[in-house]
Amino acid sequence: MSKADARCFIEALALDRPNPETELRYTTPFSLLVAVVLSAQTTDAAVNKVTPGLFAEAPTPAAMMALGAAGIGRHIRTIGLWQGKARNVAALSEMLVRLHGGEVPADRAALEALPGVGRKTANVVLNVVFGESTMAVDTHIFRIGNRTGLAPGATPRAVEDQLLARIPATLLRHAHHWLILHGRYVCKARRPECWRCPAAKWCRYQDKTPAPAAP
Ligand code: SF4
Repeated sequence: MSKADARCFIEALALDRPNPETELRYTTPFSLLVAVVLSAQTTDAAVNKVTPGLFAEAPTPAAMMALGAAGIGRHIRTIGLWQGKARNVAALSEMLVRLHGGEVPADRAALEALPGVGRKTANVVLNVVFGESTMAVDTHIFRIGNRTGLAPGATPRAVEDQLLARIPATLLRHAHHWLILHGRYVCKARRPECWRCPAAKWCRYQDKTPAPAAP
């Protein structure tokens, strides 16, 4: 896909959802960071069910550290990989208190040094909390990048680099939300709903799904 078409593709998604936001519920940088860590291989809806109770008991890194992995685990055992996530949230809270005065750092290297925080989570935090034009490539964005020709790549990092190179700077800040929501609700994994896709005109996918027959 050309750069000009990539711009049209993203502009079409932007027109469709002018004010995109993460669907994870959070109130502070710390609660967003924890919610994103908990969301690995789990739906946002499942995370949103457990975080109100968790953050009511432990709203700050110091309180989360005091709650400890066992206490965190009591709140999150309905989500996937909960034991490892409980350990990571306890450990990252301890690091925030010890190294960053209990604040979430606005720095990629410092974020990625936290337990359970990889490049994708750091990108979400840098974008949503600190307003940076990062691109957090999740399963939806990886699929869309390759399926549509917008940003073909064998790895999430390759897709991220292509998207950063092709999407105009003025659209980058919200592009990852537009793409995630597009993948979640329209360009779905098993059956993309091409007949109602606002970006179909610029998409290179060959087997576009026709509209379902009227009942
Ligand atoms: S036309 Fe279909 S494959 Fe292309 S972006 Fe839209 S939903 Fe996805």
